[in-house]
Amino acid sequence: MYWDRKDECISRDELGELQLKRLKKTLQRAAASPFYRDRGIKDIQISGLSDIRKLPFTTKDDLRDAYPYGMVSCPLDKVVRLHSSSGTTGTPTVVYHSIKDIDKWTELVARCLYMIGMRESDVFQNMIGYGLFTGGLGLHYGAERLGCLTIPTGPGNTKRQLKFMKDFATSAIHVIPSYALHLADEVESLGIDPRNEFPRLKYALLGAEPHTEETRRKVEDFFGIAAFNSYGLSEMNGPGVAFECPARDGMHIWEDAFLVEIIDPETHQHVAPGEKGELVLTTLQREAMPILRYRTKDLTSLVSGPCSCGRTHHRITRITGRSDDMLILKGVNIFPMQIEAVLIGIPGVGRNYQITLESKGHNDHMIVKVEIDSSLSINDYKSLDTLRKRIGRELRDEILITPDVVLCEPGGIPVAQGKAVRVVDNRTL
Ligand code: ADP
Ligand code: ZN
Repeated sequence: MYWDRKDECISRDELGELQLKRLKKTLQRAAASPFYRDRGIKDIQISGLSDIRKLPFTTKDDLRDAYPYGMVSCPLDKVVRLHSSSGTTGTPTVVYHSIKDIDKWTELVARCLYMIGMRESDVFQNMIGYGLFTGGLGLHYGAERLGCLTIPTGPGNTKRQLKFMKDFATSAIHVIPSYALHLADEVESLGIDPRNEFPRLKYALLGAEPHTEETRRKVEDFFGIAAFNSYGLSEMNGPGVAFECPARDGMHIWEDAFLVEIIDPETHQHVAPGEKGELVLTTLQREAMPILRYRTKDLTSLVSGPCSCGRTHHRITRITGRSDDMLILKGVNIFPMQIEAVLIGIPGVGRNYQITLESKGHNDHMIVKVEIDSSLSINDYKSLDTLRKRIGRELRDEILITPDVVLCEPGGIPVAQGKAVRVVDNRTL
């Protein structure tokens, strides 16, 4: 049931001791990098975990400023790999790994896959980008460590994905949620029954972008499988930071590898378990490039109670977005996920949507483009009008703004190769 029972079910007391030991080692290592040396890390005394507050935060801008090698804390001869963030926001940042770092990362990913029930008999199709992006290689190494037959299809080429899924009897797919919905569209348009076509398919690992519980359910219902939320970021290796267990009530965040804090993004104070805030992470095992108190910008809350699976590592709730994803429109704060949650609950709405922001006179204006599902016809003006009005009404109730709703046929919104582009901001003001 466990990849490594000792590490996954460690008592909280022992975990605390382990974290403190690893934190001290991490600080020693970090002090060797030019970036942290300049920040005076060497002189900060840590005697307990709560002393983490004495350390400075690290931000994405810091990583950019330290580009290219400013945060490397070991001789470059020991570095075997670099990855970079997908650049969802701004210039990419680079993270370096030693051979040991890759090994530890691989173990964490294998732990996640084993946790959801995958074994060496599984056939794993990895539909996520390889290359600088961490999602492809991270999961690839973990699945191989587990012994799965690992198929590195990468993203896109949907027809070939479906052929491989059928021909190799794929049992697990790793996929960006927006692409999972696109895959479902394609299966539907081909008139295939997914349960007959892919009888061994059992798991979907949904990662790399925020998605709602309803999106998960849509993927599960369509393919007749279980979908698991997978969270990670390149600064903290990539995938394998937090993952859902079979209880699927929050994602276990691996506290033997990362020290977890949740802060109020404004005051920087810790918030209580259950309260929403920004996730801040410190690497505890990395040698080539330790990162202290990294401000992820991701908004979540901590679930500190025990989990029915027996693992003692705390859980985090589904990420609702990044603090810098928030749209401010006519003074109202809106997260794209609020819009997704409304849309996906409305019958007749298809699987993709896009938000465009424009300036109209001195005002901001929102246009929500929504694909209809295949039960409707684009020529059925009456039903479409009813649908459009309903979407407008329900969105207004949720976000207090009435957007223009534009309906289009399934597939009418282009699918990104990587993470979905949910918001196009054309505002000029
Ligand atoms: P970038 O910051 O350029 O997108 P990454 O490719 O490292 O860089 O992506 C990491 C980010 O992706 C996370 O900080 C988070 O915002 C998002 N993310 C990853 N997995 C999930 C998930 N399961 N749910 C929500 N957001 C996620
Ligand atoms: Zn659990």
